[in-house]
Amino acid sequence: MTRQHTETEVGAGLPDRPDRVSELVANMRAAQPSWEHAGVETRVRWLRRYAEWLLDNQERIVGALAADTGKPLVEARIEFTVPVDMIKYSARHAKRWLRPEHPAPPNLLNALKRATVTHRPYPVVAVITPWNFPLGLSLCDAIPALLAGAAVIVKPASATPHSVIAAIEGWAAIGAPPVFTVLHGPGATGAALVDAADYVQFTGSTEVGTEIARRCAERLIPCGLELGGKDPAIVLSDADLDLAARGIAWGALANAGQMCTSVERVYVEAAVYSEFVKKLTAHVDSLERGVDVAPLVTTEQFDVVSAQLKDAVASGAQITTGGGTDRSARWVQPTVLTGVDHTMTCVQEETFGPVIPVMPVADEDQAVTLANSSRFGLSASVWTRDKRRGRRIAARLDAGAVNINDSHANVFFFAAPMDGWKESGLGGRFGGATALLKYCRPQTITAARVAIPYQRYLLWFPYTRVSTALLGRIMRALAATGRRRWRW
Ligand code: NAD
Repeated sequence: MTRQHTETEVGAGLPDRPDRVSELVANMRAAQPSWEHAGVETRVRWLRRYAEWLLDNQERIVGALAADTGKPLVEARIEFTVPVDMIKYSARHAKRWLRPEHPAPPNLLNALKRATVTHRPYPVVAVITPWNFPLGLSLCDAIPALLAGAAVIVKPASATPHSVIAAIEGWAAIGAPPVFTVLHGPGATGAALVDAADYVQFTGSTEVGTEIARRCAERLIPCGLELGGKDPAIVLSDADLDLAARGIAWGALANAGQMCTSVERVYVEAAVYSEFVKKLTAHVDSLERGVDVAPLVTTEQFDVVSAQLKDAVASGAQITTGGGTDRSARWVQPTVLTGVDHTMTCVQEETFGPVIPVMPVADEDQAVTLANSSRFGLSASVWTRDKRRGRRIAARLDAGAVNINDSHANVFFFAAPMDGWKESGLGGRFGGATALLKYCRPQTITAARVAIPYQRYLLWFPYTRVSTALLGRIMRALAATGRRRWRW
């Protein structure tokens, strides 16, 4: 059974108010140094124990996730498993990723020095997440920060907090150090957290992300932003149309279209347009309510999606399947739209719902131009039997990821970066070592490799005739190349 709620209603009923935030951050800040100095091997051990606890409590957490979001059980189980998988993957590599580096001296001034670069965490990391993947996003962003040695406070969307609360309870249950906790409440609680944390990892709308970036800039703290999308799919005339129709339907309708990487615009080469629309329509028509596609999570989101549908139909779009809506159940029937263009809100704005606008294009050049004419640049897909052609088109698309003959494939590929371009984000997530190192500040420590008496330090006072005559010249000789080395 799905709970009925909105962000404001649920947030108002929960106990964590903005004025609790500073106390919570102070507690985390006090506990963090011993977590950092315990070392990466100790942290890996705790994370592995935590993964075991999660697995032992899977059905309870998945139940809370399904109840909060109404998503199909298979999608809830996958969302649960990705962070567990991520613990396994990053625990295996964390020690190597965080290993200190020793860059060689680049010039004469440092010739006798040995440099050590270590990666020290931002003490308190805030992870603020949306309601579409409350559990997966909260844990996937928290795990690398914990491994890096930071303390982490997660603020889930107040419409869907219960699976996150249930999952993070496990950290205390295994007796781990008190460096991982959850704060629930509405946007104001998130804003108070932004004002107190040392690093903010935010996933959500472009509008709120922009506001968070502004607040972080005022305090000169960094933030990672994973924001909205309007992902295009390009279907070329040589594509396997059955594969494309099924892959695009899943790309557009998984999680009822409430994915940042949902396919929200489809451009099809004219030669195969009618056939593709026929196949897509037939497949979407066969999907079952509640089994394949669930109602939307919030009434606010229902209103956004149904307004876009009405706007499209009023402007001349045709519905080839779907179009039905029921506000009390937050249900939007999976819908395929034709006769759409770039003046309509369903093509311009993020939809975040089960609507697929399909447009014919003359050729791949027009497809690329239209795909790039968006303020978003999260990901895209290209459907073709010719992988080289697919790669060539991918290299022309303004998007952080391009999947050839698949949808969402990069989202689960956490060894590679997931990086939103343009208004889809800043800083990205995942990407192996990058996932941990983004939560760290590099610290350089230099020390002498060979001890020499201070009287021989040419660079220190007093500046003598010898140092004046020699030092600049020797440095120039080493810095220059060719004949300029010897022209003093
Ligand atoms: P939202 O921006 O309304 O809220 C996201 C989170 O921010 C919530 O926890 C909310 O309480 C909090 N918040 C709201 N105002 C705040 C403020 N002023 N300061 C700090 N925190 C504040 O987004 P949403 O409606 O929950 O989620 C949908 C959006 O998330 C879509 O735009 C979707 O594309 C995006 N999204 C992006 C990704 C990605 O990886 N790029 C993944 C999932 C969702």
